[in-house]
Amino acid sequence: MQFGLCRDSEPDVFFPSDGVGVDKARKICKGCGVRSTCLEYALGLRIEHGVWGGASERERRRINRRRKLATISEPKSA
Ligand code: SF4
Repeated sequence: MQFGLCRDSEPDVFFPSDGVGVDKARKICKGCGVRSTCLEYALGLRIEHGVWGGASERERRRINRRRKLATISEPKSA
């Protein structure tokens, strides 16, 4: 967060209550230099609320689900 563009925004912007608010946060994240680190942080800790790394709560759940499925379906190497 020290290096994120959100450091100059009100925290409420990243905890929106509707899709319009999510889009507003996403626009800020889009130009952020630590976006992927931020997203991985939120995914790794399974943070449920807010927009992190440009991804909403729903999008992060979807990413984690997809990754879990990919891990399950990966062939085991010897
Ligand atoms: S990606 Fe978004 S929430 Fe994450 S640090 Fe950057 S501006 Fe903040």
